[in-house]
Amino acid sequence: MAKLLEGKPLAEKIKAEIIRQVQSLKAKPVLASIQAGENPGAEAYVKSQKKTAEALGIEYQLHRLAPETAEGQLIDFIRGLNQDKSINGIIVQLPLPQQIDYKKMSQFISPEKDVEGMHPANIGKIVFGKAKILPCTPAAVMELLQETGVDLYGKEAVVVGHSEIVGKPLALLLLDKFVTTTVCHIGTAQAGKLEEHVRAAEVLVVAVGKAGLIKGEWIKEGAIVIDVGINRVGDKIVGDVEFQAAEKRAAWITPVPGGVGPLTVTMLMRNLVEAAKLQEGLSP
Ligand code: NAP
Repeated sequence: MAKLLEGKPLAEKIKAEIIRQVQSLKAKPVLASIQAGENPGAEAYVKSQKKTAEALGIEYQLHRLAPETAEGQLIDFIRGLNQDKSINGIIVQLPLPQQIDYKKMSQFISPEKDVEGMHPANIGKIVFGKAKILPCTPAAVMELLQETGVDLYGKEAVVVGHSEIVGKPLALLLLDKFVTTTVCHIGTAQAGKLEEHVRAAEVLVVAVGKAGLIKGEWIKEGAIVIDVGINRVGDKIVGDVEFQAAEKRAAWITPVPGGVGPLTVTMLMRNLVEAAKLQEGLSP
């Protein structure tokens, strides 16, 4: 039976380190959060970010923009925050009103203030193994893998899902640790090869958003399974992996909820402190 790889206790450990780092900064770090329009899901997320930030000694500034905000207006707003020396990090909350292309927005945030780690310059630095600010979810996955204490060198990893925000940057982070990394996507599934790849995975990370996509019987005995997926099934939240069958075969497995989720906001705060350190010249 697999050991549970829970995000909360790990997040608490990392938060203690963030508090120490915040105290070593010259000024209280400030995170500017932009929310355009209204959405109950975004409200809950913003509330939780604010609570986490404040508990860590970080100032959380929420900027609410009208639902009819045009793309150009949001870009101008971001540029204003880029120039504001009192702001260390900027996050644009999702979902955005439909007239705004979210993917375009990350390139307008200054790379030094890009706490989501999605600016092309920050993504590019991952390729060179030089990134200080990492995309939050892949960073959370790497922390969970490290927490197992398993030496990843030379292991066979399979990442299912190739989104810009999770699968692609995660594959680069795994490569940087000398993990032999295969990325599966819709093409793999349509070619009928998903099962074959998953069965070979010593490390399996799934980030698709389809409940039950990965059958428990496909899991390699002794594998580490990180389930990033979040799916609502009836009144329950589940991942992409059939948990009950998978935990009988895996050595380690993340629960959903309670695995990757609790760590992502912590990674955001860690990025903010890293950004503040870079801006204060404290980080090389
Ligand atoms: P996304 O942008 O929709 O990407 C999903 C990926 O899965 C795409 O690469 C897609 O390929 C691929 N895919 C779709 N169907 C597939 C199939 N049958 N077999 C293999 N691959 C398939 O989603 P995302 O933003 O990466 O998020 C993925 C999941 O993780 C969602 O459930 C999301 O809610 C969750 N998530 C959780 C956290 C957290 O903190 N726990 C953070 C971020 C995301 P194509 O694009 O080629 O179709």
